[in-house]
Amino acid sequence: MTPMTGTVYIVGAGPGAADLLTLKAAALLARAGAVLHDDLVPQEILDLVSPTAELINVGKRCGRHGSSQEQINRLMVVHARRGRPVVRLKSGDPAVFGRLGEELDALREAEVPFEIVPGVTAATAAAAAAHATLTDRRLASALVVLTGHRRDGAQDDSLMPRPEQATYAVYMPGPDYSATARELLRSGLDADTPCALVSKAGRGDQKVYRLRLGQLHAHAPVPAPAILIVGEVTAVTAESADVSEVPVAGLIYEAATDCAIS
Ligand code: SAH
Repeated sequence: MTPMTGTVYIVGAGPGAADLLTLKAAALLARAGAVLHDDLVPQEILDLVSPTAELINVGKRCGRHGSSQEQINRLMVVHARRGRPVVRLKSGDPAVFGRLGEELDALREAEVPFEIVPGVTAATAAAAAAHATLTDRRLASALVVLTGHRRDGAQDDSLMPRPEQATYAVYMPGPDYSATARELLRSGLDADTPCALVSKAGRGDQKVYRLRLGQLHAHAPVPAPAILIVGEVTAVTAESADVSEVPVAGLIYEAATDCAIS
């Protein structure tokens, strides 16, 4: 990594209202040297971009010819190498149907530093609009996020993915990790499935513990609040992970006092 390389901030723009941007997103738009944005990001958000920044629409909506994914990957790297902060602005949350994985691969490959800034995803914005809850302890114990848009050539006739092709975000995974692990394994997941147990996500003292599902039962408690992400997407090579790697069951923390469940 050259010292002059700027950081690429992959930023969620939320559902399209400027007042649903995060403060961090707004601050980054105001100081970016270049902003690469999708078509779905409306003008009221682009108005927050610094007038001196290069503003590039890399949108590729159906039926219109836009930049290819390879071109977008290249543009991010080229602008970062000019030494300025780059914002890659995506609608909603970048990690939900946003081709984030491919862009991260390209940045890792080019050794460009990056940070991901989450945004309000369409599902939560839509639930708010519809005055609906997404989970309800009486009615719905899971939220399933799917796409109706198939990859070219995909033959699947069911929108429901096979267990190993889905990502699971397990809220309140503790304190009994062994029960959570047992249920996930019983649901058809392999013990080798990579997981990320994330404590205090998004806060200054966040911590990410990487493990395999087969190791979860023995994991030491982590500071609350915590969430478990399960699935192949959490497999990141150790050298590229910008997060702590902690030996499984190697650390015992004081139980957090602010929240009974983690
Ligand atoms: N990363 C985005 C999703 C990108 S896929 C997110 O987290 O929301 C683009 C699709 O998201 C759209 O075709 C539409 O189905 C949905 N979407 C995005 N913004 C939306 C909005 N404001 N209202 C309803 N659906 C929206």
